[in-house]
Amino acid sequence: MKNDLATKIKKAEDIFQEGGIYICPMCDGKCQFCDDDYQCSECEKEEEIGKWKYIVWVGGVDDYYTDYERAKEHYDEWVAKGYDDVIIEEIGK
Ligand SMILES: [Zn+2]
Ligand SMILES: [Zn+2]
Repeated sequence: MKNDLATKIKKAEDIFQEGGIYICPMCDGKCQFCDDDYQCSECEKEEEIGKWKYIVWVGGVDDYYTDYERAKEHYDEWVAKGYDDVIIEEIGK
């Protein structure tokens, strides 16, 4: 589900980069405030969340990442600091 959304977001961005019209992938341009080439702040926020793929949990506190390398980097950092309750969770798995 989450990964389908990430694919959709990527596709919308690709079309825009090729000179096409950016249609908000969160609402397909159908929400009250989104228009062609315009994305409202609510949808923008949701899109950011949609891009997150990994959560690093440190003692019950969550941190979100879009790629595994960055998540792992921070995971290792926390472990090196002596935390033993660090978990990497893949969103949508
Ligand atoms: Zn929208
Ligand atoms: Zn919107």
